[in-house]
Amino acid sequence: MKNGKRIDDRLANELRPVKFEVGVLERADGSCYVEHGGNKVIAAVYGPRAVHPRHLQEANRAIIRYRYNMASFSVEERKRPGPDRRSIEISKVSREAIDPVIIKEFYPRSTIDIFVEILQADAGTRSAGINAASVALADAGVPMRGLISSCAVGKVDDTVVLDLVKEEDNYGQADMPIAMDVRTGEVTLLQMDGHLTLEEFEQALELAKTGCASIAEMQREALIQKYRGEENE
Ligand code: ADP
Repeated sequence: MKNGKRIDDRLANELRPVKFEVGVLERADGSCYVEHGGNKVIAAVYGPRAVHPRHLQEANRAIIRYRYNMASFSVEERKRPGPDRRSIEISKVSREAIDPVIIKEFYPRSTIDIFVEILQADAGTRSAGINAASVALADAGVPMRGLISSCAVGKVDDTVVLDLVKEEDNYGQADMPIAMDVRTGEVTLLQMDGHLTLEEFEQALELAKTGCASIAEMQREALIQKYRGEENE
């Protein structure tokens, strides 16, 4: 940090520029493209639809499947294609982050499949993926109690900061992605790499809430834009 500014000139409590575009894929039931700083992410939602293989189906609710995938060209050195430990973990925690707001009882014996593709990565891809997936679900008309919004907070040069870039993630002292339903305040994902004191943790949590609130506003705005646009056509 120099004069209170970060490596990319942001203040400690500033998000990177974020842009949502709704309904970008014709063959998906719902989709969303997100640019979050240097991250470029696309989410596609299929369903509710029949479950294959059938033994996975649940008699009284839909199941939710979430696949996070990083394109081999999304990072500086080519990433080996296909699932690895990291992407399996991120798929699991992202599904758990979104699952609580989906009203699954409306669609027994069905599945809702969420695919998140990371086209370009610059730290915070799980959050960008969750934000895109949440909007894509709404675009697909999946009934939800609220939208899930996500961002990371962390500690760099002994300062608690919002929304780390790659360099800050690499050299920082802590990185803590959070996802929540801003309306109810329910936190649905919280992970931490590194170390924070209790005081710093509380400060970071507050900062994450403001970040998620800004993201939620942009998600809502993007959905309104799309559907208002269609009304006028
Ligand atoms: P997140 O993207 O959610 O912050 P991580 O903290 O695991 O997840 O990763 C931080 C960043 O490290 C990623 O956004 C990406 O820029 C980079 N990264 C992750 N995996 C790889 C990889 N296999 N090769 C190169 N860079 C990677």
